[in-house]
Amino acid sequence: MSSWAKSVLFLLSVAVTMGLASNIFAQGQAARYDLLLKGGHVIDPANDVDRVADVAISAGKIAAVQESIPAGEAGKVVDVTGLYVTPGLIDIHFHVGHGGVPLNWFAPEARSQAAPLGVPADIALGAGVTTVVDAGTSGAETFLQEKMEVIDHARVRVLAFLNIVANGMNGGLEQTVDQMDPQLCAATIKKFPDIIVGVKTAHYWTEQPADALHEPWAAVDRAVECGNLANVPVMFDFWPRPDRTYADLILKKARPGDIHTHVFAQQFPILLADGKLNPILTEARARGVIFDVGHGAGSFWFRNAVPAVKQGFIPDSMSTDLHLGDFTVLSMTEVMSKFLAMGVPIEDLVRAQLRKTEWNTDTREKDLAHLGGLDG
Ligand SMILES: [Zn+2]
Repeated sequence: MSSWAKSVLFLLSVAVTMGLASNIFAQGQAARYDLLLKGGHVIDPANDVDRVADVAISAGKIAAVQESIPAGEAGKVVDVTGLYVTPGLIDIHFHVGHGGVPLNWFAPEARSQAAPLGVPADIALGAGVTTVVDAGTSGAETFLQEKMEVIDHARVRVLAFLNIVANGMNGGLEQTVDQMDPQLCAATIKKFPDIIVGVKTAHYWTEQPADALHEPWAAVDRAVECGNLANVPVMFDFWPRPDRTYADLILKKARPGDIHTHVFAQQFPILLADGKLNPILTEARARGVIFDVGHGAGSFWFRNAVPAVKQGFIPDSMSTDLHLGDFTVLSMTEVMSKFLAMGVPIEDLVRAQLRKTEWNTDTREKDLAHLGGLDG
């Protein structure tokens, strides 16, 4: 394998990041390909390609991957010798849009200090990401705004987990259990089946004592109920507590195909007292639970990640959790670089790591394909 130090990662996201070159030769003869990337190290796990090869593109699609394609056959040739070429990456934990913050900041009811939670969707493209999945920034009452403001206009493909909280994130209603309506959540997901691929729960009742209005599992249970009604996976952002343990989340509440994000955050018992990997992780994996990085501003701790990775526990998906206020990492490639530094081979980082799970219906298979880590 080429070393990271010697090679700069070149992430191919042809359709969206590269303008198509003229396809006409000077002498007027039509070129066979619009664009040719020559001499790069292609890593394309889906097609079992891991070697130096030329990649030709026509009309925004990959037309050929061969050992050598003559330069004369393309309208534009880019020498990518010494760089990696991969399919577009998928960032399954990202934030776009306003969430629960009112659109009109100057309205009397707006909290004037509240900025939108999301970042501009297209900044993902710079790291070779061609699909981002918004991780519950909006809920049933705010999704349409996010769709019209961001999703419909982005160059990067934007999918979404719908927040179980109808108002979404950051609007001051994330602790209001009445906001978590599984029926409304499922109905909204069914209305936008091409965009909404799952449910999200986050930030719920982290440290306060439980009371009649705040049952410890309310957010998780309602998110799972919505997931069952809409037949989609749930992504959990979770805070364990004595009456709501991590073991119960990943061994009992999470269904096969559900995702625990922020796996290396400080609050999870990833390691036992003797430094060994907590066996509940392996057990949960065997049940089909998926573990996502969700790096974020404070959700990635080397003290958990390094021993876990050394013992062979590598998250199923890399993701940034980019949002306004996250200045810890700025791109998917930075997240991947941390794992590279921990000894994970780049081929494995590029690989679609989401394992096959036991979703039964076509819908679920389609949803998981969306989340598979790599764009075709
Ligand atoms: Zn997030």
